[in-house]
Amino acid sequence: MLREHVKKLKAYSVEQPAHRIKLNQNESPYDLPAELKNKVIEKIRDLNWNRYASPFADSLRRAIAKKEDWDPEGVLLQNGSNSLINIIVTATAIRGKLMTVAPSFSLYAMEGKIFENRVIEIPLDPEDFSLPLKSFLQKLKKEKPSVVFLANPNAPTGNLFPEEELLQIVKARKETIVVVDEAYYPFSKKTMRPHLKDYENLVILRTFSKAFSAAGIRLGYLLAAPSLARELRKVMRPFCINLFQEAVGQVMLDHPGYVSDVVNQIVREREMLFNELKKIPGTISYPSQANYILFRVANASKTYTSLLDQGVLVRPMHGKGIENCLRVTIGTPEENRLFLQALSKP
Ligand code: PMP
Repeated sequence: MLREHVKKLKAYSVEQPAHRIKLNQNESPYDLPAELKNKVIEKIRDLNWNRYASPFADSLRRAIAKKEDWDPEGVLLQNGSNSLINIIVTATAIRGKLMTVAPSFSLYAMEGKIFENRVIEIPLDPEDFSLPLKSFLQKLKKEKPSVVFLANPNAPTGNLFPEEELLQIVKARKETIVVVDEAYYPFSKKTMRPHLKDYENLVILRTFSKAFSAAGIRLGYLLAAPSLARELRKVMRPFCINLFQEAVGQVMLDHPGYVSDVVNQIVREREMLFNELKKIPGTISYPSQANYILFRVANASKTYTSLLDQGVLVRPMHGKGIENCLRVTIGTPEENRLFLQALSKP
């Protein structure tokens, strides 16, 4: 009945034990204000809900293209960037090769494995999670993967890879699609966007789930050369974006001031949290350009349980290079204060 291969896979899961303060999924701690929610509702109230929306959310694609100063043909929208990762793998690699780094966002390997690809994971430098560029390029040229996934800032480590290094990877093999996942771009302000026009194998992923405070809405987009986006579109299901999602996207694009206020507040709190974490004995925290901080303790499962006992939910980390690490999402100032208080308790 089932592919043998599927039986061996593990479904994605995220623990959600009871808690008072939720700092485990890199969401924005700020829900959209009632004023913006009302604008969304006004927008969809008069639409015809009995009719299909446009198959590929054309009006939102055009609005994103305008904001990004890019051709609308080079913009694709899906239910969250997770779905775009699926689209890219579907179009590029089945029983082939996918390359990424470790530690990184788990969905790259997960999607790779669904399609029976060999997932090549290059370990990051254990000290600072920087990219071992030379060995990465060597492996890329030797293995010739169809697709490379790199999150920038990287998740869960929070560091940025230098633009020049990413560019060398893009240039190394024009037959390999290089996906730079910029889910946390609004917090880092570093993007590969200026290079899109020069490289047909470069894809940039973005999401409304983090800085745009709309994780529950499920909306992500990609930017790529129109010639590549037209190919990727062939494996996309039509009508994936509904009227509601499209309206939320439009309203958020119409209110850049709200988004930048949220981002500024989170970046300020991130710096405060990083400085305070440094003062806690036995804790090593890693500098982050995103909306979370990775930190190492003597015994992560003990610390995780102690935090949870005090009502604070963070994300336990598993995998090579992040042993005894936890990841905390930047919350509101009050949430961050309570987290620090809970962590400092002996
Ligand atoms: N990329 C990275 C690097 C992420 O950390 C996440 C969220 N966990 C995503 C993509 C998924 O975002 P979305 O909600 O748009 O599916």
